[in-house]
Amino acid sequence: MEYDVLVVGGGIAGMEASLTLGDAGFDVLLVEKDPSIGGHMIQLSKVFPTTDCAGCITTPKMAATAKHPKIKLLTYSEVKGVEKVGKKFKVRILKKPRYVDEDACIGCGRCEDVCPVLVPKEFEYGLIGRKAVYIPFEMATPKKALIDLDNCIMCGRCERACPKEAINFLQEPEEIEVDVKAIIIATGYNLFPPERKKEYGYTGSLTTIHTNANPNIIHAMQMERLLAPSRPYNALLRPGDGKVPEKVAFVLCTGSRDKSVGNPLCSRVCCMYSVKQALLYTSAVPFGEVTIYYMDIRAFGKGFEEFYNMVKELGVRFVRGKVAKIESRNGNPVVVVENTETGEIEEEEYDMVVLSVGLLSNPELAEILGVEVNPYGFFSQPEESTNPAITNVEGIFVAGTATCPKDIPDTVAEAAAAAAQCIAYIKEVGS
Ligand SMILES: Cc1cc2nc3c(=O)[nH]c(=O)nc-3n(C[C@H](O)[C@H](O)[C@H](O)COP(=O)(O)OP(=O)(O)OC[C@H]3O[C@@H](n4cnc5c(N)ncnc54)[C@H](O)[C@@H]3O)c2cc1C
Repeated sequence: MEYDVLVVGGGIAGMEASLTLGDAGFDVLLVEKDPSIGGHMIQLSKVFPTTDCAGCITTPKMAATAKHPKIKLLTYSEVKGVEKVGKKFKVRILKKPRYVDEDACIGCGRCEDVCPVLVPKEFEYGLIGRKAVYIPFEMATPKKALIDLDNCIMCGRCERACPKEAINFLQEPEEIEVDVKAIIIATGYNLFPPERKKEYGYTGSLTTIHTNANPNIIHAMQMERLLAPSRPYNALLRPGDGKVPEKVAFVLCTGSRDKSVGNPLCSRVCCMYSVKQALLYTSAVPFGEVTIYYMDIRAFGKGFEEFYNMVKELGVRFVRGKVAKIESRNGNPVVVVENTETGEIEEEEYDMVVLSVGLLSNPELAEILGVEVNPYGFFSQPEESTNPAITNVEGIFVAGTATCPKDIPDTVAEAAAAAAQCIAYIKEVGS
């Protein structure tokens, strides 16, 4: 098979680049490693500073990408090898088995209803469970089930319940080879695993919370889910005991600007997403109290400073100081901090603490593609100021948070730029 461009990663950067290329008449193959496209953006509640609903922006993009006549979507697939032959790239892709026939599955969810196994749901970062056979989330694109064989007990109930006979335990991984003229890397970022900052008391993993010593210490993506219109609980409740959290703190720079965990970089979004979450929390719990612990507030974008000031005026308390540790008292998190404005050591008990985790690199494809990364693992931009989408390999471009932490507007702008540079390159080298 031949395509003009391979786009790797189906987050907002990959979808935007694919749509730009597809609309311009180029054949695109979009490869996403997860069972659905959408990336991190589909998990967000609302977006700063406009507080537009993230899902309402992302789902039409997901549908447009999946239905576009010039875009072929391969989900649950990974790039395993890339070789440049002449002007083209030969690409080996592995399509992982879903154990569900994608063409036959109608996404009705009857398999999920009868499955007796319950494990933490990745999409909700472990705040609720999912079945061993599952559709990743309500708006998953494609809306197809898959079986998590590691947890499946082979009871056969899903097979009997499926009205389309789509369950197929014998499915094998499929190797696909394609030729493409250019590649866009849009593989995004990884969240900082909060358990690495041991003194903050989060002992689960990113997608589990039930193993937390204190489940009322959560990370920012879990807070996004608690605040989202498609949230896991029907109100904003703390995971430890289902109580409405009346006093909440945010701990900024968890795992960023922090050499002790090996990440000196600023995450560029954690100030603003925490301010946004504080605002959404005050709407969900109008009598609630919020404190934000910060080192500096970096409100650098269009409308950010005004947004921050507006939230401050609503009564959100800002305390300057790097939190030293978070302890627990009767199930409540206790924040210990040196207030750098007063010089005092303060200790305060909360119903829930949100760790505003940083954005780390995702360099897993660098070696396969032969593309250089910077010392922090983000894809290098040899001509960052004038030609930001190009990499050290001719014909391979990059967009979005694959190059460094950034917000959605910057990601979208870069994705369109990468698509434009890709088009110019294809026209220049010819076919
Ligand atoms: C808690 C939190 C709240 C935020 N709130 C906001 C906000 O309100 N406003 C705002 O502007 N920004 C916000 N952001 C930042 C926002 O999430 C990013 O700007 C945006 O999601 C970046 O999109 P992306 O496509 O570059 O990366 P991602 O969303 O990470 O997408 C990358 C995609 O590539 C896929 N992928 C990864 N590796 C591979 C591979 N090897 N092969 C195939 N596919 C692969 C992934 O599965 C994923 O689908 C927030 C971030 C966090 C952590």
